Amino acid sequence: MRMVDLIQKKREGGELSQNEIEYLIGEFVRGHIPDYQMAAFLMAVYFQHMTEAETFFLTRAMEYSGQVMDLSTIKGIKVDKHSTGGVGDKTTVILAPIVAACGVKVAKLSGRGLGHTGGTIDKLEAIPGFCTSLDFDQWVKQVNEIGIAVAGGNEQLVPADKKIYALRDVTATVEEVSLIASSIMSKKLASGADAFVLDVKVGSGAFMKTLPEARTLAALMVKIAARSGKKACAFLTNMDMPLGKSVGNALEIIECVETLKGEGPRDLTDICLSLAIKMVEYGAAISEQEAKNRVLERFENLDALNKFAEFVRAQGGDTAFIEEPGLLLADVKVLPWFARADGWIGRMETEEIGKAAMVLGAGRETKESVIDPAVGLVLEKKTGDAVERNEILGYLYYREEKRAEEALEILNRAIDYDTEPVEAPRLILDIVA
Ligand code: URA
Repeated sequence: MRMVDLIQKKREGGELSQNEIEYLIGEFVRGHIPDYQMAAFLMAVYFQHMTEAETFFLTRAMEYSGQVMDLSTIKGIKVDKHSTGGVGDKTTVILAPIVAACGVKVAKLSGRGLGHTGGTIDKLEAIPGFCTSLDFDQWVKQVNEIGIAVAGGNEQLVPADKKIYALRDVTATVEEVSLIASSIMSKKLASGADAFVLDVKVGSGAFMKTLPEARTLAALMVKIAARSGKKACAFLTNMDMPLGKSVGNALEIIECVETLKGEGPRDLTDICLSLAIKMVEYGAAISEQEAKNRVLERFENLDALNKFAEFVRAQGGDTAFIEEPGLLLADVKVLPWFARADGWIGRMETEEIGKAAMVLGAGRETKESVIDPAVGLVLEKKTGDAVERNEILGYLYYREEKRAEEALEILNRAIDYDTEPVEAPRLILDIVA
């Protein structure tokens, strides 16, 4: 087999066989296919796309390109959740303890943020002492003991994705649906869970800007899971405004605790409960109604909050901030952000809001950037809210004046004021099962 023939076949719109796909992934990971040939192949895929069968074979080949987790020493059905990434998306930190408090084991591997989107590991590391570098045995032991553990990604998992993603990033081929679906699902499948609840973000702060695009990606990922013999469903959720009020690692952790205390923003609470109900339905193998009853009970009686505290302690974190949130924001300065007009907030450019947080130091411009856990934004107003000129829209938590000024400029460009009332956007747009 020759790589040049496979590039040509795809360039002409042909369908690659399982054998051909296994060859190109295997040889690329072994270093026998050079980056320039893989880059050309990715561009051919970008224009010609892949069939569902090709995408499945690509996912499988990537899944088995490195280590695959064996979670058989953890009893019960293991359910994982994945979000395609958004601004202010802190759902894992809230729903993982809810699900664990319902008796379903949560063995989670999470990533760091890049660009305008945040990562669960960065958020958890805003907690003093919290350790995310658990080895496999510690991770499994903690799941068996307290029902929940969250660790940073394993370097041995899906090396094909690391190499391919780096090429996609620099060849303008990230936004192809088969490449996105295989990238996400290969990592999910290699992490060893039995079932998946996917959260596909749609809108200005997401990879998928429109509902039809998101629906295609969601359906493809659910089908890949099914062909792998695993249960999955995908929620399509709105990213035309940030999720919840806070963007920035410590601020988001504080919002997670407020939410677990039952005092969080409605949108964030609703989505966490909806995702948790599906995870408990799959993990406990009970009906949706039974899962709903269990989730609401453990959320309302604060079992989930107590599970969160147990989880933080188990990973070395200091839980004092649960009662005293200000401990996470030491020495940070606060600047109010004022409305520039009367009216209703008609549009928020979510990606720009994420960028404003990044400029403050909450996110990474490059993989090497160092983030500041205490800086970020809190939004007091969102799309659909009525505002008056000079009313407070939110607060910037910052250290350097120059960065705060730059962030403020971005924020002012990121919202439009309408003169007519605007409906608040619906959060859960659809569920693909
Ligand atoms: N997230 C991933 O892990 N891979 C993609 O290709 C896009 C989003």
